[in-house]
Amino acid sequence: MHVAIIGGGISGIAAAFYLAQQHVSVDLFESENQIGGRAGSDFLQERRVDFGGKNIGRNYLLFREFARAYGDPAFEYFGINTSQLVNGRIVSISREGSVWLNLLKIIRLCGFRKGITRLYPHIQAILNDRSQGVLCSDYFRALSENFDHLALDRHLNQRCIERVIRPITIRMNGAEPEECYPGNFGSNLALALDSFEQLTVGMYDLLNTFVVNHRKDSSLRILTSHRVTSIAKDRDKFRINYLHGATPGTESYDRVISALPAYSLAELLQDELPEASKLLNKISYFPVGIAIVKYRDEVFPKNRRAMVFERNSPLSNAGAYGLNDLDIVRYTFSGKASRTTISEQSSPEKVIKLGEKIASPYFNIKENPKEAFVFRYFTKGLCAYSPKHHLLLEKTDHLVNSLSGLGITGDYRRGASIEACFRAAKECVEKVIGDGS
Ligand SMILES: Cc1cc2nc3c(=O)[nH]c(=O)nc-3n(C[C@H](O)[C@H](O)[C@H](O)COP(=O)(O)OP(=O)(O)OC[C@H]3O[C@@H](n4cnc5c(N)ncnc54)[C@H](O)[C@@H]3O)c2cc1C
Repeated sequence: MHVAIIGGGISGIAAAFYLAQQHVSVDLFESENQIGGRAGSDFLQERRVDFGGKNIGRNYLLFREFARAYGDPAFEYFGINTSQLVNGRIVSISREGSVWLNLLKIIRLCGFRKGITRLYPHIQAILNDRSQGVLCSDYFRALSENFDHLALDRHLNQRCIERVIRPITIRMNGAEPEECYPGNFGSNLALALDSFEQLTVGMYDLLNTFVVNHRKDSSLRILTSHRVTSIAKDRDKFRINYLHGATPGTESYDRVISALPAYSLAELLQDELPEASKLLNKISYFPVGIAIVKYRDEVFPKNRRAMVFERNSPLSNAGAYGLNDLDIVRYTFSGKASRTTISEQSSPEKVIKLGEKIASPYFNIKENPKEAFVFRYFTKGLCAYSPKHHLLLEKTDHLVNSLSGLGITGDYRRGASIEACFRAAKECVEKVIGDGS
């Protein structure tokens, strides 16, 4: 069997990983000149830093299995440490602090009615069975049926929304609570209940080991700078048309896996499956800007390494790059206020200046010389799904199934975390390979 995977981000890499375990012959098409997609990296002086997905939960079991298979890289503790302004006072929550004190702070931040009383059963459902903490799990499907006629901001009290929920949706979906839905919140909540690490030498080394290990492997060809332009099915074979630079090409496959974001797959299916394409375009994605800035001196005190900002701020949070990188700030710009201030055309210097202005009252930034920076703006960076998302996916799958042998995976299937991308890819590979091979 010969399979094509379209998209060399985490979802495509995960699909290739699972197909390699089945000894299936695979071509992985990636339009950019390197794999990684939104989990990419860049140089900050001599050091590689991850500008996209990088935080790895202790419960990321599938991703960790992948990492073990490709060099078993070391992880460093990243921790939970966040602060916010509440009525002019800085409130900090940190793993290093007392569990009970943190819990008390969270309960106070949430409030009781339509606050902790509503969140608690959802938390309990995930803690009882971690597999419920993904998109379209049984528990959250039922919640979606009952509550997705209203957005998330109507599901919980305003205090809980502003102080607890918004910092999560803005970070994980790039969306305001009124742009998210209760039935999808489980995939966020599971992350909020996890404890995080990052790869000591970053994502690049791991993904590079994946590429190098397969360079001499005739069963997995990684075709970078190959942009797929259409998918069509003639009898029982798929025809993939692509552009390699300006040169067009065509290849034929038994099965195809799309590991693209929903809007990119929508574009490819426009002619072949226009109804599925319309549904995929209903899945929302929001922009996010990331600046990683190295300063001469430490910016953060050890006990306050991150801060989330309020609704009217285009800077949603600023945090230390790593537990011991107190001189490197990762500024995240997301949410409605950032969308009106920052765009693809914004100059990185101006965006960083804006972030510094907002964060400097709380950290040592003003008199601290900048030594280097990297900046990335993702116009469709973070997935925020759709209301009654499971129904939209069911309808899409029904239409896609008419092209038997086409599997679809990505950040909109089980959630946008790296682990959820691995889970979705695993399920997709099982389905595609199981389909009459
Ligand atoms: C700023 C940021 C921070 C994040 N932080 C975290 C985190 O700390 N932890 C976590 O778990 N998750 C995090 N995430 C989420 C996670 O990184 C993403 O959900 C995940 O990387 C998405 O991977 P993907 O493969 O589904 O999509 P993508 O990474 O978008 O991959 C799709 C790939 O397809 C390619 N492509 C597109 N069109 C074509 C075509 N026609 N032909 C061929 N190739 C094509 C693209 O170039 C791209 O490489 C973060 C995301 C962002 C943006």
